[in-house]
Formats: sequence, structure tokens, C-alpha cells
Amino acid sequence: MSSFVVPGSGWPDDPATAATPVADSAASVAALAASAASLAELTARQSVCRACPRLVAWREEVAEVRRKSFRDQPYWGRPVPGWGDDAAAILILGLAPAAHGGNRTGRVFTGDRSGDFLFASLYRCGLAAKPTSVSADDGQRLIGARMVAAVRCAPPENKPTPQERDTCAPWLAAELRLVAATARVIVCLGGFAWQALWPVLAECGYQLPRPRPSFGHGVQAEVVAPGSAGLSGGAGLSGGTGLSGGTGLLLLGCYHPSQQNTFTGRVTPAMTDEIFRRARAAAGLD
Ligand code: SF4
Repeated sequence: MSSFVVPGSGWPDDPATAATPVADSAASVAALAASAASLAELTARQSVCRACPRLVAWREEVAEVRRKSFRDQPYWGRPVPGWGDDAAAILILGLAPAAHGGNRTGRVFTGDRSGDFLFASLYRCGLAAKPTSVSADDGQRLIGARMVAAVRCAPPENKPTPQERDTCAPWLAAELRLVAATARVIVCLGGFAWQALWPVLAECGYQLPRPRPSFGHGVQAEVVAPGSAGLSGGAGLSGGTGLSGGTGLLLLGCYHPSQQNTFTGRVTPAMTDEIFRRARAAAGLD
């Protein structure tokens, strides 16, 4: 048996087929991301990418060896594509899929403890249809929201290299462009996502605040859409109510729901709920 799911072989919601073009270098990621005409085409291409040799080897090794408790299950073992509402008002940006979470289930934040914490909060805030997310065919749905990872393959020790982050960035930029008509808020889960997002926003033509705010839980910043006149009302750091004009994006920092953070109480359910409720309000979902 293959150590990863063969595209088009019947995995629930597999966006790819045997005919989906495969990126095998940074240049081909950029080209295939830029030419994807729809989210369906983009996510299919993301899900078969092989541009980062270290990450391809790791994701497939994990899928081959498996954790003892999942030994009888097939692992996805491929990049985890963006998932959720195609007309999302809120984007939720994480670091990368977990080796035995998204890399196993094929869906971001699905099948691990971080996802349990995150989806419970999203459900309480009306952004997810169910409080749990365990498998790609569990009936879960995001409501007005979409989840993406800055790096779409599970990295060893959850640490992608800067080169891997940069190689993967065009997938995120293309996804941002394809949801730009409806997206109003991006919630960044952790400092890695916060840092990874700025160059992608610049690449998409957004005007960034100067200086750029440092990551923190509850920190927010406003970026102005390409072609707009400029920031109205300032960068909106803390205390702002959202966007003026509705053409830009509000960035919200949220501590990552990693087990390290949730077990130590660095991030609590009340803290994530507060962020997602702010996101809802700023995105006009209330
Ligand atoms: S991390 Fe991104 S660019 Fe690298 S192989 Fe995975 S999907 Fe492709």
C-alpha cells in the first residue's frame, strides 16, 4: 500500500485527481498557484505538491510508520489544502498541519488536540457546524470561515525552515486573492503565522502598517486593499472596532492552540472565544 493517499482514489473531499499538475520546485509552485482559476483548482494543486524534499520525505515517512494508536488507519500523507467556506469572511491561518492530525486526516486542524480546542471555540462562536473535527467525512463545516496553513506539509518538530515557508507562500497568496472579494478578517494562530502573512499580503498588493505590530494575543492591525487610497483611522492597534470602508483586512493575533499553550493555560477557551467573536463582529457576521 502507498504511504500516502493516491489522488482521486476516493478519500473524502480529495480535491485532486490523477490529472492534477504536480509542483516539484519553488518556481512551479509559483506558476501553478498563479494560474489556478478557482479555489477548487488551487486546492487540488496544493494537495499534490512535492516542492520541498525534506517535508515530502517526512510527511510520507510519518504516513508509513504511523502512530501506534492509528496503526490500522490510512494516513493522508500529502499537503493539507485550504478548507472551508469558498466565500469566507474570516480566514484562520495556522502554522502547518500536525504529523498525526492533518497529515493523517487530510484536513487542517482535524484529528488532534489542537483541533479539538480550536473547533470547540469556533462552534461556540457560530463559525463551525459541530464542536469536534475528527475526520474528513465527519460532516463538519466552517460557517463564513476558511482555514489555511502557512506551510501545507507537516514539518519535523513543527518547525519548517524559512526556505520551506517561502516556497509554500505562493499557495497562500493565491488563496488570499481567490477569497479577497469576501474576506475581511484574518485570525493568525501564533507568531509564525503572523510573521509569514506580511510578505504574502505585500505580494498581493496590500498596504501594510508601519511599523508592523509585533505578534501578541489580541493584537490587531489593519491592511488596506490594493488600489485603495490609504489607511483610514490608523493601523487600528488595539481597541479598534474593525474596518472602515470594508475593502481591507483586519489581522487579529491569537495564541496558537497547541497543547503546550492550552495545558499551561497560556491560552484558554475564553481567550480564543473572545478573538473569534471580535473577528465575527469585524467581518460583519453578527
Ligand atoms: S510545504 Fe508547501 S511548497 Fe512545500 S511541498 Fe508542502 S505544499 Fe509544497
